[in-house]
Amino acid sequence: MISILDQDFSQLNDFLTQLKPTQLLILVDENTHEYCLPTLLENLETEIPFEIIEIEAGEELKTLETATQLWEILTEFETDRKALMINLGGGVITDMGGFIASTYKRGIPFINIPTTLLGMCDASIGGKTGIDHQFLKNIIGTFAHPEAIFVFPEFLNTLPFEELRSGFAEMLKHGLITDEKHWNDLISIQNLTPENVFPFIETSMKIKQNVVEQDFAEQNIRKTLNFGHTIGHALESLFLLKGKPIMHGEAVALGMICETRISMLQDLISEETSDTIISNLRKFFPHINVSAFSGEEILNLMKNDKKNSHGNINFSLLTEIGNSIFNCSVPAENIKNSLLYYQNMP
Ligand code: NAD
Ligand code: ZN
Repeated sequence: MISILDQDFSQLNDFLTQLKPTQLLILVDENTHEYCLPTLLENLETEIPFEIIEIEAGEELKTLETATQLWEILTEFETDRKALMINLGGGVITDMGGFIASTYKRGIPFINIPTTLLGMCDASIGGKTGIDHQFLKNIIGTFAHPEAIFVFPEFLNTLPFEELRSGFAEMLKHGLITDEKHWNDLISIQNLTPENVFPFIETSMKIKQNVVEQDFAEQNIRKTLNFGHTIGHALESLFLLKGKPIMHGEAVALGMICETRISMLQDLISEETSDTIISNLRKFFPHINVSAFSGEEILNLMKNDKKNSHGNINFSLLTEIGNSIFNCSVPAENIKNSLLYYQNMP
């Protein structure tokens, strides 16, 4: 798997010339059709026949029904195993497209061209594909690597601010868990705009890729990428159940605040370090009122997280800025304390 920051589409064109697929299947959603596909088509220098497959935008469409439609479309197109699927979109498209490509005829090659910041720095890298089923996120899926990932930062220019900020939460996480300099660079950004984020995308891509390469099957170090996600996922699900969804990055930022506090309560970092991290996270993310949920309710959801085993809630926690550990068992009391701390923040 290679991920390439391609400024001018030349590397994508070279890749296609070498691979010589029989057909290109370009998967887009309605937004990437409008905002990203024209640029891609303008820059593609190839005679290979292509088909555009569009699905509606949104997580709600990351379902078995959509997958079934897509498998049927490939069958109608008489797609063979030498075709290449091009997933042009955010994490929904790269997850769904990767899933379809890795299962159709037992697998056809695919590449990811992520168009959201979250996609560029996180979702398109790491070989996890999947769909949601019966309200469970990513419950059906495969491990399958794209042939390559091509990142064109200019696609971020049309991305709504909240989506940019959501991806930025994952970048901050990369800094916190592995790279103090990256964290310092990111928190120095005054104004969250695509141009200000561009210079740091490559580092985040490399951090994610490096962690995944060391531990593809998530037996050890890959678990550190779950920092902020144990509490983050639980709250993301609770807000969704309430019919008031919050963005993934907002939930992760909230989760990172609580889990930084837990790192302190577990004596892994000092109160001063914890306060520094939390005040910087709060510069970028608005406070979310979580008073509607009880500590018990949140704990119960966390116990069901598929990343846990034998009923223990496992956390990845910080030992300093730029360093983290995994498989930390945390007493319920500390989890509840961290939530209370968050809720009572001014
Ligand atoms: P998304 O794909 O839904 O994109 C967010 C929104 O932005 C959508 O409305 C989309 O149409 C729009 N959009 C995309 N690119 C655009 C552009 N350039 N300009 C304007 N609008 C654009 O969501 P996401 O945040 O990219 O990804 C979230 C998904 O990723 C979730 O389903 C999550 O489960 C998955 N994910 C997967 C992994 C993994 O390792 N496989 C990791 C993290 C997240
Ligand atoms: Zn995440």
